[in-house]
Amino acid sequence: MEMENGIPVLRAVRIPVSDGERFLVRRCPFCGRQHIHGAAEGHRTPHCPIDKEPPGGYILREALPGGAHKQQALPGSGAEDLDP
Ligand SMILES: [Zn+2]
Repeated sequence: MEMENGIPVLRAVRIPVSDGERFLVRRCPFCGRQHIHGAAEGHRTPHCPIDKEPPGGYILREALPGGAHKQQALPGSGAEDLDP
């Protein structure tokens, strides 16, 4: 998992809502749920169930269009990172 200063980084997508924008975490790696936060990057209190949340919280970063955060994906190896 991607980390920053020992804190896990979750990728979020920016979504429009009636009063602005939100960040959507499609599938949290800790609890498997979808989380919606305010549309700003940075350290957040987890929205996970209390028994699954990472103790230090997590950091939200906006996912880049086209999955540019997927680093070093080798051609033909793509079995492990199949984001819908
Ligand atoms: Zn979660």
